Amino acid sequence: MAYTIDLSGRFALVTGGTRGIGLAAARRLGEAGARVVITGRDEAAGAAALRDFAAAGISASFQRLDVTSEDDITRVIGTIAADTGIDILVNSAGVAAHCNTEDTDPAHWDYLMNTNLRGTYQCCREALRHMAARGQGGSIVNIGSISGIVSNVPQNQAVYNASKAAVHMLTKSLASEFANRRIRVNAIAPGYIRTEMTQGGLDNPEWSKIWLDMTPMRRPGEADEVAQATLFLASDAASYITGEVLTIDGGYTTR
Ligand code: NDP
Repeated sequence: MAYTIDLSGRFALVTGGTRGIGLAAARRLGEAGARVVITGRDEAAGAAALRDFAAAGISASFQRLDVTSEDDITRVIGTIAADTGIDILVNSAGVAAHCNTEDTDPAHWDYLMNTNLRGTYQCCREALRHMAARGQGGSIVNIGSISGIVSNVPQNQAVYNASKAAVHMLTKSLASEFANRRIRVNAIAPGYIRTEMTQGGLDNPEWSKIWLDMTPMRRPGEADEVAQATLFLASDAASYITGEVLTIDGGYTTR
């Protein structure tokens, strides 16, 4: 008999769901039967995603949520938690920036840390409050990065790398803290995945050659290859997995 993941009756919220990895994860969760709330800042992209989902028979809605806004986080997550409850949270909202460290300023630090780390932390905290109070368990998947494991080249991105390493440790810490409430918290560390975030680098022959030479599978990953693992970690198929950082990188970090 074919093995399928069934998320019927589950409610999922995806940050950074308007594009790239978050959008692909939202689609996989929806295809598995979850009712999905896609969030992000780009309302036109959210509306386009909903049209595609509706055409595919996927039940979803969109809420504007900027993860750097404490107000947005408490209001949106609080409202959804009160209306339906939240069983699954995927934190994919993230930004990247390359800069030689001597050229950076506090705004560079704040931009990356406020979105990638503070945003992930605040969304986790808000969802965990509701999941813990509801008492029905839950599952969180944070999108980290291989940049939180190895210092990748040729781009200089010390702050981005630090933000993602912190997301990994945040994940492990929350996993330990909430395991007794039947809430699992895992992370995924993608390698080079073809999305808007990496398009500039993949279009740059020099960078692309370096990235792919260092990737044993010699190709970038696709957003759906991360989405499928997100679906697995979010589901009961991963019922004894918590605090894990799952690398999806075509072998990049095997070196
Ligand atoms: P994209 O640039 O394609 O998408 C980024 C997403 O993050 C968009 O949906 C965007 O939505 C959202 N976002 C950015 N800032 C905010 C904000 N302040 N509030 C809410 N949403 C925000 O990137 P990817 O899909 O590639 O990246 C997704 C995650 O994966 C990121 O955390 C990234 O660091 C990580 N990652 C990506 C890799 C890759 O190779 N692509 C490799 C390793 C990790 P909107 O514009 O609507 O706000």
